[in-house]
Amino acid sequence: MERAHRREILLKLVLSFLLVLLYGTLAVASGTPTASIKVDQVGYLSNAVKVAMVSAPARTFEVKRADDDRTVFQGKLSASAADADSGDTVQAADFSAFRQPGTYYLDVPGVGRSWTFSIGPDVFSRTFYLAMRAFYGQRCGIAVDLGPEFPGYKHAACHLKGSFHVSSGKDGPRDNVGGWHDAGDYGRYVVNSGISVGTLLWAWELFGSKLATIKLNIPETGNGSPDTLNEARWNLEWMLKMQDDDGGVWHKQTSDHFPGFIMPEDDNLVSLVIGTGSAPYKSTCATADLAAVGAIAARVYEPFDKKFAGVNLHAAREAWAWTERYPNVTFRNPPGISTGEYGDDRCGDERLWAAAELWRTTGDAAYNRYFLQSYAEYLPKLQSPSPESWAEVAPMGLWAYALANRSGSDARAVAEIRQRALAAAREIVDRTRRNPYRVSVVAKDYVWGSNGQVGNYGVQLLVTNALTSDPAFVETALDNLHYLLGRNTFSLSWVTQVGANPYRHPHHRPSGADNNPEPWPGLLSGGPNAGRQDPVLQALPANLPPAKVYSDDQASYASNEICINWQAMLVFLLAGVLK
Ligand SMILES: [Zn+2]
Repeated sequence: MERAHRREILLKLVLSFLLVLLYGTLAVASGTPTASIKVDQVGYLSNAVKVAMVSAPARTFEVKRADDDRTVFQGKLSASAADADSGDTVQAADFSAFRQPGTYYLDVPGVGRSWTFSIGPDVFSRTFYLAMRAFYGQRCGIAVDLGPEFPGYKHAACHLKGSFHVSSGKDGPRDNVGGWHDAGDYGRYVVNSGISVGTLLWAWELFGSKLATIKLNIPETGNGSPDTLNEARWNLEWMLKMQDDDGGVWHKQTSDHFPGFIMPEDDNLVSLVIGTGSAPYKSTCATADLAAVGAIAARVYEPFDKKFAGVNLHAAREAWAWTERYPNVTFRNPPGISTGEYGDDRCGDERLWAAAELWRTTGDAAYNRYFLQSYAEYLPKLQSPSPESWAEVAPMGLWAYALANRSGSDARAVAEIRQRALAAAREIVDRTRRNPYRVSVVAKDYVWGSNGQVGNYGVQLLVTNALTSDPAFVETALDNLHYLLGRNTFSLSWVTQVGANPYRHPHHRPSGADNNPEPWPGLLSGGPNAGRQDPVLQALPANLPPAKVYSDDQASYASNEICINWQAMLVFLLAGVLK
């Protein structure tokens, strides 16, 4: 009896142990997703490489269908690799062979389950819509309403009154209504607008067939022009208003200091047209940026609005002529102005870009001549790791020349540019494949706007792919997109309201000031920043590796602000991988 009793107790113990094990497994599988499994929370293209990362020790993984938890794919994790940038030990889960469209999650025995993701031939279209439409949300000078899809996301017309600041060389009112709020603040800056609008117009030139029918539900929808171009035009028209009668372009239009976290219509600070403080008052970088963007716009808008295309070309030519008279007038914030500076000591790269785009548009020999006299010193900019950025647009100029394909272009210059571009892209591919998170950024890239750097590499890869097609370039561009959408050390989607675990507290005044529980949708965060230029980052542990220096905190302007140039890179990357 006693023996039987003991056996019974033992059996009960074993049974409950098994039950605990079973329950534990079930809880792990169907419970809260773990940040130790990192997936692109939007998804993976059916025929593309599909890799997730696991940062806790394990051996195997399963892909499970979200509806019924059925296992659809099983695999072994790769050997672990130490990622110095994040301090993580990472294993890859490769399920490329599984191609069936649907919604899934990863189950890693002993670790847990991931957030859900989709597989399909066109998984990024919704993200493109939100990311591109986010520019509409940044519109200044007009009432904005994201409509029934996002009730409550709206603001009244803002910054309708402007005036010349003493640094502009003029005085009196100058309203210049329009444009996009640059970032988390309400300033408008020509230089940063340059690369942002330029990149969006390039997205149209390279991927326009995929964008032509996409409706963004903006006020211009249905006017006969594609919505991507309608939205880019909103900021372009403001850039044109920043041009003075002599062809030069004022650097920026902002209040004298940043307002608090208020809605844009509540910001009553005067919107000032700000110049360099002494003759000729306009800056060469801003003027050359308008020349470049105006030249692209002349090509792009020609089929839809000839008059507007002509206005842009005229502005671009006038701006170029001004930069010939003033080849390097740089900008620093004048006394009493504490908003963003976008200062840049060298405007030669902006001029190179302008010359290349004007040559590409007009075929006028003078632009070709200037480009050919100047380009050689900028060829080293086409290397890795050194992607284009708002302050360094030489790659845009070099690519533009190679893409121009004009009779009269210098064949040797085109060949040199192609060869350099290819070498850089191949190096990025190799480096990214070796990176445990398969992202192209290196340790030095974890600066203010590191997520923008991720996007910049994506642009570099896709533009090079347009010069010389190579599936590895597209695959690596997708790797960078996967990083932004959740396959990173935080397992965080860095686009607001996109993915099952997005960041939620951008440094973005409308998101902070309105009553909506979630931030405005589609906005890319600046991302980890080892430079730690704000108190939130400074309070983080001192020994954090660079990829970990990030806080999803509205006060962390140095790691969690949004910005139109990072946003433009994201849009370009998404446009490139749309169906
Ligand atoms: Zn405004």
